[in-house]
Amino acid sequence: MSDYNKPLPQIQPFTEAFWEGTRNKQLLIQTCGACDARIFFPRRQCPECWSEDLGWIEASGKAEIYAFSVTYEGVEAVFRDDLPIVLAWVDLPEGIRMQTNIIDCDPESIEIGQQVEVVFKKVTDEITLPYFRPVQ
Ligand SMILES: [Zn+2]
Repeated sequence: MSDYNKPLPQIQPFTEAFWEGTRNKQLLIQTCGACDARIFFPRRQCPECWSEDLGWIEASGKAEIYAFSVTYEGVEAVFRDDLPIVLAWVDLPEGIRMQTNIIDCDPESIEIGQQVEVVFKKVTDEITLPYFRPVQ
């Protein structure tokens, strides 16, 4: 039994591959076999053309910070140990803009355009969460 006490994703049939990927330290991006769209977050159907012919590619794990904010207070009790929290949108070279937390960083040093890389945190046997951290 894990002592992780924060909200967890509910694994759905169409997100199972994504979470299996993170368990294997792979960041998987859904792709559409009909129109070649890159899709995040995972869905049952392509949001561009409604095709159900969806597959997966492995992302490089690299990204660039598009926007961010730093939260110093005012979060629910279970998140207080994480403060300050850097919430960011990052652009992946695969054409995805992803919301994430930037971790393992000095929040004062974070900048738009900064290069970051994915890092995986196992929180339960089933769920490994992807985050990003500055490239060293
Ligand atoms: Zn499509």
